[in-house]
Amino acid sequence: MTVLVFVDSATPAGRVADASVPQLLVTDQGVVRGDGVFESMLYTAGVVRKLDAHLARLRSSAASCELPLPDETAWRGAIDTAVAAYGEPDDADEAVVKLVLTRGPEGQPHGAAWVTVSPAPQVGRRQREEGIAVVLLDRGYDSSLADRAPWLLMGAKTLSYAVNMAALRHAHSVGADDVIFTSSDGRVLEGPTSTVLLATHRDGVKRLVTPRLETGILPGTTQGAIFNAAREAGWSLGYGPLEPHHLLEADAVWLVSSIRLLAPVTSIDGTAIGRDRDLHDELSAMVGDIR
Ligand code: PLP
Repeated sequence: MTVLVFVDSATPAGRVADASVPQLLVTDQGVVRGDGVFESMLYTAGVVRKLDAHLARLRSSAASCELPLPDETAWRGAIDTAVAAYGEPDDADEAVVKLVLTRGPEGQPHGAAWVTVSPAPQVGRRQREEGIAVVLLDRGYDSSLADRAPWLLMGAKTLSYAVNMAALRHAHSVGADDVIFTSSDGRVLEGPTSTVLLATHRDGVKRLVTPRLETGILPGTTQGAIFNAAREAGWSLGYGPLEPHHLLEADAVWLVSSIRLLAPVTSIDGTAIGRDRDLHDELSAMVGDIR
C-alpha cells in the first residue's frame, strides 16, 4: 500500500490523494525529461530518520536546478499527514518516505511536489545481512569535472536516474549485486544509489574513509551521520582520494544509504575483500542509533 500526499503551501497538512490512479500531467517535465529532484528516507519505529538532513539536501538539489521549492513547513506538514495515514511500522517493519518535486509543464511557474510512504523493499534488508558482490564501472568523466561543469548537476539528487539504474542492470547481468563507479582518472566515486565507505583497523586505530565530495558525488546523509557517530566514538576519519586498490586493501568496505543502511561488500570484480566482523558490528550499532 502506498500513501500519497501532495505538498500544498495553501494547505499546511497537504492534500491526500489516491496513489493507485494517475495524478500527474503527462506534460510535466519531471516525467518527460527527468527534470526534478527527490529524497528517500527510512521510516521505522515511528521515526522518519535524518529528516532535517534530507530536507536540507532537497533544498540544495532544488537550488542547483533553479527549481522553486515549496516552503519547509509545507513539506513537514505533508510528511506528518503521510506517515500518520500509513500508520506506524513496528520494529520489524520499515517504510520508505519519498519526497519528489518536478518542474511541471513547460511555461508553468510551478511543478508538482508530493510525499509517498510505501513498504521498504525486502532485498535491501537481505543485502544488509548477506553482503553484496560489486563491480567497478567507469562513469566516463574525470574527478575534477564537477567544478568545471556545474550544468551537469553533479552532487544534486535529481530525478535523472536512468543511467544509475542501467548500471545496476549491467551489474545484475554479470552476476553482481551492485556497482561502484570510478572516474576516468581512476578514482573511486560512489554507487548508483549509495556512498562508498571503507575501514581499516591498524595499530589500534580504527579509520573510516569515504571519497571526496569534490569528485562530484552526492553528499550522503548516511555517510554524514556515520562519520558524526564514529568521530564521537574516537575513530579517525578521512576523505579520499580513493583508488580501487584502497578498496582491495581495506579491512571492510560498505555501500551505505538511507534505506538499505549498511551493505557490506563481499567482493569487487570477483575478488573477495576484507570483511572485519568487529568493525561491521560496531558500525551497524552506530547506524542503528541514527535518528
Ligand atoms: N549516492 C547516490 C548516487 C544516491 O542515490 C544515494 C542515495 O540514494 C546515496 C549516494 C546515499 O545517500 P543517502 O545516504 O543520503 O541515502
